[in-house]
Amino acid sequence: EHLSNQIAAGEVVERPASVLKELIENAVDAGARHVDITAEEGGLSLIRVVDDGAGIQPDDLLVAFQRHATSKIASGRDLFQISTLGFRGEALPSIASVAKVRCLSASESGGLGRLLEIEGGTVKRHEDAASPRGTDMSVSELFYNTPARLKYMRTIQTELSHLSDVVYRQALARPDVAFTFSHNGSVLLRTPGNGDLRQVVAAIYGSGPAKAMLEVQADGPDFSLSGLTAMPIETRASRSAVTVIVNGRFVRSPAVVQPLLQAYHTLLPINRYPLSVLHLRMHPSLLDVNVHPAKLEVRFSKETELRAFVEAAVKEALQSYAYIPS
Ligand code: ADP
Ligand code: MG
Repeated sequence: EHLSNQIAAGEVVERPASVLKELIENAVDAGARHVDITAEEGGLSLIRVVDDGAGIQPDDLLVAFQRHATSKIASGRDLFQISTLGFRGEALPSIASVAKVRCLSASESGGLGRLLEIEGGTVKRHEDAASPRGTDMSVSELFYNTPARLKYMRTIQTELSHLSDVVYRQALARPDVAFTFSHNGSVLLRTPGNGDLRQVVAAIYGSGPAKAMLEVQADGPDFSLSGLTAMPIETRASRSAVTVIVNGRFVRSPAVVQPLLQAYHTLLPINRYPLSVLHLRMHPSLLDVNVHPAKLEVRFSKETELRAFVEAAVKEALQSYAYIPS
């Protein structure tokens, strides 16, 4: 069991940012309104995520660290209707097999919680403990028992930039959740959690770029699209300027990015990208998120219709730009 967890960890836990992604997804899946993230040394010495979500029942805490012990999928049929970010039940056991994990959680406010400490897959402490409702998860000394993996890690600065990407994507995906992110004691991001996407964009990219964005809003029979996209004069050199969120999940999707660029077609110089955050929503059955282990790729069952829908919606947003008095 320990070995299979370590093997699974090789797929799930590539670097500190992959751990952070899994922990934030769990917090969001638990319905958290506040997610406080701290990291030390690029996440290699510490990654901590504290949430005020539903918490874990004391008797379920140890179970949550067993393989395939997801609470999110009840039947095979559910696999085609995934509405949570996690569903494989692999993250926690994988992480706990290659790090020192401390988890304090309670599922009732004022109720008794439970504390669990696992090092390299071995339970070191498991006892009742006072805790506010929610979950406080710390992952220390990542890869301390897999030196070969540790050798692969780059500089702290590189690992930090991957951590930041993960936090930014989650913050952009959920403007209704308040995120804070600190690294080595300094606060790098704070979002208000009031549902206003433009304020999240401002916190990440600055208020200038945030102001210079047009609203995208379209509803169709199969899809709805909302978000912000840059005025054509405000473009960027990096593909990562475009953030696509599908049903609350950050994805890499040519099926959305290409029609977006197509809408800008005559307005956009070659190799430039509009700073954009697009939220696409559809019935979960139109979406296959089970394609890629890191879940960054998805498949759409109505891709042709989707492409036409996105292009039309972005064109409409750009038309409103033409009417803005200069
Ligand atoms: P998955 O997210 O795929 O279900 P994980 O290994 O990430 O698998 O987590 C296992 C289980 O632990 C989850 O299904 C959930 O029940 C519980 N869990 C993990 N993190 C949290 C959290 N922050 N709040 C509440 N429950 C959690
Ligand atoms: Mg998970």
